[in-house]
Amino acid sequence: MSDPQPEQIHTERACPGVAGVPDSGYVKGVYMRYMTVNSAAVFQGDIILHPEDITAEPSIAQTTGRTRLTAKWPDKIVYYAIDPALPNPTRVYAAMAHIEANTPIRFVARTTQRGYVLFRNSSGCSANVGYSGSLQYVNLGRGCTVGNAIHEIGHTIGLWHEHTRSDRDQFIRVNYDNIVPGYSYDFNTYIVQGYDGFDYGNQLDLSSIMMYGPYDFSKNGLPTITRRDGSLYTIQRNGLSPLDIATIKAMYP
Ligand SMILES: [Zn+2]
Repeated sequence: MSDPQPEQIHTERACPGVAGVPDSGYVKGVYMRYMTVNSAAVFQGDIILHPEDITAEPSIAQTTGRTRLTAKWPDKIVYYAIDPALPNPTRVYAAMAHIEANTPIRFVARTTQRGYVLFRNSSGCSANVGYSGSLQYVNLGRGCTVGNAIHEIGHTIGLWHEHTRSDRDQFIRVNYDNIVPGYSYDFNTYIVQGYDGFDYGNQLDLSSIMMYGPYDFSKNGLPTITRRDGSLYTIQRNGLSPLDIATIKAMYP
């Protein structure tokens, strides 16, 4: 029998209920399709592209592309600020404490650093992926839990969604026919999306806090992601999985 659909877990959305407008451009010189939602460029539902990285034409940066190396926070320190208007900021402190307890990452309140992450109120949950060297965001709506905050900070420190691993087709099946129109791109591997990255270990981790659920972005109530054999799986937003922790330690040795 298949796993039950994990209806109680809400995966992360930048602007839940708001229809995005399909858009495209060159991100760090690589052509990408994304959704424009409330004037922000969003892909994979909760990843906000850095506006300064998007150009209408390919740039000379096309041959460099983005690497994990440039997306890492120097000295494993994430400088942060919390908007006073953010409801329930204890979510942020709990998420940071969880990450500090399990990884080498340390969070330090920003003073004058140019590169830092601002936690602020929003309608949904979203974040930029990796260190930008300037102001970047974790957006947390009222519905975002501590687990959602850990997921978003996972993006902040450079984690992609688990289902975008380059080797994911060995472990899962993506049912593109069931995906809401305009969102198929979000189910591509980071390589197809034009980003560099690395896959830690030799297996996809269904228990990763960065894993999409089987019904995410379904247009018809049928699963968008299953195991290779077609069966469902359960996701979690309790905390970093052992492989999430190992991945972060590999990124930040
Ligand atoms: Zn995400």
